[in-house]
Amino acid sequence: MKTRIHSVESMGTVDGPGIRFIVFFQGCSMGCKFCHNRDTWDRHSGHEVSVDELIEKIKAGLPFFKNANGGVTASGGEPLLHAEFVEELFRRCKEELGITTTLDTSGCIELTDSVKAALKYTDYVLLDIKHMVDEKHKNLTGRHNDLVFAFAEYIKTLPLEIWIRHVVVPGYTTDMQDVEALALYVKSLGENVKRIDILPYHMMGIYKWEEMGLPYPLEGLEPPTPEILNEIKQILEKYNKNVYL
Ligand code: SF4
Repeated sequence: MKTRIHSVESMGTVDGPGIRFIVFFQGCSMGCKFCHNRDTWDRHSGHEVSVDELIEKIKAGLPFFKNANGGVTASGGEPLLHAEFVEELFRRCKEELGITTTLDTSGCIELTDSVKAALKYTDYVLLDIKHMVDEKHKNLTGRHNDLVFAFAEYIKTLPLEIWIRHVVVPGYTTDMQDVEALALYVKSLGENVKRIDILPYHMMGIYKWEEMGLPYPLEGLEPPTPEILNEIKQILEKYNKNVYL
């Protein structure tokens, strides 16, 4: 089986536990104003790769990936736009290589049979909840948030770990009432949620918009201050354990 990917990272340390082989898939179902991977949006860009090729590359670093519960992470873009490919990749990583599988997703995807099949071979879901308020979610990402919540409600019933991620974008996600709603919602997802990572908005991906000749939607916006980040952390910690900044 083949599909299109943007790139791979052979020794990733931030997208799931341990040392991981990260596959950045091409194509995204959202259009976030703060996106630092703007070059992954087009489903038809990047280059074609087969599951066999990826398995061979992963084998080259297998001792590292087996260490400390490491493994493979499907990221993007939106990996679940390639659900059948992810299912086969994850199944082979678990059955043939004995490593763990992590899905780094926006959750903005229909719960098709293919998506559900990929989730059967998933150990960790890194779910990025971008905004609790639909109107603000739409303004920030170009999409409504109903699919994200349906996805969250589905995965909370599965035998996997959920790591919630939330990007703090000044003026967009810094209304503390909205953060309180997020804290309560994450709590409602139950015991499968093992950690929450607060990700400060940063400007490191602006050059990709510029290289593509596109105007950057958040031109001039500075990253959040430590004070705002700490306030958000405290609100999330009122209802949840293992909140990291
Ligand atoms: S979901 Fe991720 S890759 Fe897609 S537009 Fe948003 S930030 Fe970019």
